[in-house]
Amino acid sequence: MSIKIVKVAIDIPIFQLFDYIWDEEELNQKPKRGQIVKVEFGKKINAGIVLQINGDFSCANDQDKSLKRVIELAQLTHIDEGLLRLCQFASKYYLRPLGEILFSTIPTDWKKTEKWEALEKQRNKKLKKEEHNAPQNQDKSKWLLNNEQQTAYDQLIHISAKNEFELILLKGITGSGKTAVYLNWLKKILEGNDDQCLILVPEINLTPQLEKIIRQVFINQEVSVLHSNISPAQRNIAWWKVQHGMSRVILGTRLSIFAPIPRLKAIVVDEEHDGSYKQQDGLRYNARDLAIWRGVDIKIPVLLTSATPSSETWQKVIQNKITLFELTKKAKEGATISQLHLIDLNQARKNKTIDTHGLTSEIKKVIQKTWEKNKQVLVFINRRGYSPILHCGSCQWKSECKKCSAWMVVHKKKFGDKDFSLQCHHCGLVTAPPVSCPSCGNQDLATVGMGTQKIEEHLSLEFPQIEIMRIDSDSTKRKGSADEAFSLIHQGRPCLIVGTQMVTKGHDFQHVETVIVLDVDKSLYSQDFRAIEKMFSQLVQVAGRGGRSDQTDQSNIYIQTEFVNHPLFTSLANHRYDDYITEIVLERKENQLPPYAYQALIIVESVTEKKNLEILYEIKGHIENQKNTQTTIYDPTPRMLHKHSGIERNQILIESKDRIELQSLLETALDQIEMIKKKSRSIKIHIDRDPTLF
Ligand code: ADP
Ligand code: ZN
Ligand code: ZN
Repeated sequence: MSIKIVKVAIDIPIFQLFDYIWDEEELNQKPKRGQIVKVEFGKKINAGIVLQINGDFSCANDQDKSLKRVIELAQLTHIDEGLLRLCQFASKYYLRPLGEILFSTIPTDWKKTEKWEALEKQRNKKLKKEEHNAPQNQDKSKWLLNNEQQTAYDQLIHISAKNEFELILLKGITGSGKTAVYLNWLKKILEGNDDQCLILVPEINLTPQLEKIIRQVFINQEVSVLHSNISPAQRNIAWWKVQHGMSRVILGTRLSIFAPIPRLKAIVVDEEHDGSYKQQDGLRYNARDLAIWRGVDIKIPVLLTSATPSSETWQKVIQNKITLFELTKKAKEGATISQLHLIDLNQARKNKTIDTHGLTSEIKKVIQKTWEKNKQVLVFINRRGYSPILHCGSCQWKSECKKCSAWMVVHKKKFGDKDFSLQCHHCGLVTAPPVSCPSCGNQDLATVGMGTQKIEEHLSLEFPQIEIMRIDSDSTKRKGSADEAFSLIHQGRPCLIVGTQMVTKGHDFQHVETVIVLDVDKSLYSQDFRAIEKMFSQLVQVAGRGGRSDQTDQSNIYIQTEFVNHPLFTSLANHRYDDYITEIVLERKENQLPPYAYQALIIVESVTEKKNLEILYEIKGHIENQKNTQTTIYDPTPRMLHKHSGIERNQILIESKDRIELQSLLETALDQIEMIKKKSRSIKIHIDRDPTLF
């Protein structure tokens, strides 16, 4: 019998697979899991993915008779088992339809069956062209590993030779040469075979520099880069090469954890603590967690790197569930570890050594001195725009967004005939700033607080002789402009760099000798229990931008704060991250917070809060009698950003010591959620597992 029934996943938000007839003679092929097919669904032609082969078709069975046939097969190899299993796990764990997840792993063009033929032609043409101009890379990556690096490398080789899962943390201060260690390791793994490896990085703006190095290290191997900023044509070809094993090294941002890599032999998660591994909408997954799951599943080593490991990873260190290698020295000859200086804002106010913009005389002196030495200064302030709020001093009116529960940020950007505009960073609304207070008519509105633009303006008045470069997402909107700015900085002429977190990560600034950090105090006492961990790693990162070569003297980091005695600063000054994060993790244990408890949010979004609460109480009531003492289901609360683009957002938090119980509660909730969604389609309900945004 050559006619089978297969179960197919379709790209729709429904938790269900669909039966189709697979005629082996007609399709010229036996059915295979992971095959991408063309099917009729409803009245439309859709792409589908075969997930199950259900057995023979029976004419005697009335149900079978009504089934439709698989029309055609995509000329692609099937999606590999490893990825299929990963998607199945993600579907269950994150409670999202499998079809939706599977199709998110495929370039959009391949979802449209009418494009298949054109896609194949385009690909073949491109591959032919590439044959003619094969890459002529030269291996310039001859590092001589230092002792620490060599030890880590040797042990890594020992681990990968076992062909088993092992979770490894390569911890090392910034500039200790972690990249060199793992690239050498991966190179060795790929030697003399057809295997593949995956390197995950947090953000696109990190990729160009690393990409260049990777292409130099893997001269004889095809490297593919996957992130959201490549063109559809580039993505199609890269994805195809990865899936067919032609690409040996895959470098990408979080979504590439879902890349089809049939011969995957190792995964590296670079800067594993970085928040951008967590996707905050749609399928709310964590790429680091999925990387570990994928490693366990296909029995390969997973290497995490960080200077400041996350609490989740550090818990594993404490519990001996991870193999730890440490690099404690700067790799480069002459590079120094920055020295921390705290500037007490209370004292400065008393002594009147602070200007109206909040800059202390000490900071200004340091800037002047560094410039006189022909070195660069980096000023870090994690807020873009001119000023976070426009404010009326007489009636306390503030520039609130009409559509969000957030302040409109003042930007130094033309709007009509005005030099400034108000922008909401959440919904994107842009308006002209009011001439007078909309509430009391006061003509004297003031900006409160500083963003990168105001700092830039202020510094350019204070230091007219110094060139200032501002780097934030506004100044680097134009494609390529970030690269241009960074390459100017790398040339090394003395300047002042003012930047947001865009400048803190990855960049190897050879000429920065002084780092200045403004406006940190809010994060020290934030409601978000992760804020302090995040702040610490940000400060370590930004401090690590200075002193990266023998071109500079002792590098220094200056922080202005009202809380000079905060334990974070003491630990930072003494380079005691380990002790600090250990304390944080133990505190979490005591308070039964993650990673010692598992959390999930059920989020409801609609135009009225009343409706949200109604639904959330209904869901809560539905699952409450199922829980035991391991679990707490909290009452509905507004989300941190309560209103977004006119939509009210509320949530309930479920917290459990037992992951399995949490899973089963969420599954029960999901049934209820699906029912509610069917009744009122305008209401959005999401589940966020292991949330990091509340
Ligand atoms: P990390 O990722 O730990 O911050 P990198 O891998 O970026 O550090 O290395 C920091 C700098 O040190 C880079 O410029 C790199 O080329 C250089 N480097 C790495 N290993 C060595 C080595 N063994 N000898 C000299 N320079 C090295
Ligand atoms: Zn007013
Ligand atoms: Zn808004």
